[in-house]
Amino acid sequence: MHSELVAALDIGGTKIAGALVDGAGGILVRAQRPTPAGESGETVARAVEAVLAELTASPLWPDVRAVGIGSAGPVDASAGTVSPVNVPAWRNFPLVERVHRAAGGRLPVRLVGDGVAIAAAEHWLGAARGHDNALCMVVSTGVGGGLVLGGRLHPGPTGNAGHIGHISVDLDGERCPCGGRGCVERIASGPHIARRALENGWRPGPDGDTTAAGVAAAARAGDPVALASFERAAQALAAGIAATATLVEIDIAVVGGGVAGAGDVLFTPLRRALRDYATLSFVRDLSVAPARTGTDAGLLGAAAAATAHRDPHPGLPAGVGGLTG
Ligand SMILES: [Zn+2]
Repeated sequence: MHSELVAALDIGGTKIAGALVDGAGGILVRAQRPTPAGESGETVARAVEAVLAELTASPLWPDVRAVGIGSAGPVDASAGTVSPVNVPAWRNFPLVERVHRAAGGRLPVRLVGDGVAIAAAEHWLGAARGHDNALCMVVSTGVGGGLVLGGRLHPGPTGNAGHIGHISVDLDGERCPCGGRGCVERIASGPHIARRALENGWRPGPDGDTTAAGVAAAARAGDPVALASFERAAQALAAGIAATATLVEIDIAVVGGGVAGAGDVLFTPLRRALRDYATLSFVRDLSVAPARTGTDAGLLGAAAAATAHRDPHPGLPAGVGGLTG
């Protein structure tokens, strides 16, 4: 039974994924293209249209009621445009309008940033399910996130709220490409975990893996430099989570992405550091959990955002990012 479906698009710097998703989070049809990230804006748009063409060709397409897009940011949901850092040809690109047209011109289209999409997915089907106030984050090559407040997704006016990666947690810290200093991402992302370990004398094992996964393996084996690099990342994440909890009172922080795959190497020092930074009575009981929606989080989150105007749980406020047919 899937009489009502949504089309979901997950747009990142390496791939453009699409799916038809049912009301229980089942993925019934998939399509995918690599993102031609270094090419013209028009070429990237055609890759999105190719993914959509596969979806619209499905015999299930007539059951689709809405389209949801989760895109690498920044996005501007109020204008329907995207400017992904890792897709240089797209600056204020009118993605919502293009998708609306390619989807046949009759369906509502909703756009959120990829961090907000992850939060929607985790609230709908993952570790934040049943939690009315949650911060959900992705820690991988970058650090992003989104918020659920009062039982509803909180994308903010432009669809970027909860972008914890660019909160400063080190006032005199290193410059971040965003223009700030000491951002969470600059300390806790996978590439920075690896860089810091290498700078402090860590060397990869026989497999030559110099990524954060290699550092995690060394940390698991007790390498003190590798452990210290994860400890530092955990501190930055904890400071950002504690600040968020103090501002808006969340009761759970969900952490996903490749770096979260390090498991206890990350989560043990993260929980310890949270006890240092989240000290007031109303944030002390904050829990931390690994994300559960896995590699389909972006698609499921885009689907959740698409349907939210009809279903308050997990909800986008009506009209957010909307261009209606
Ligand atoms: Zn930054």
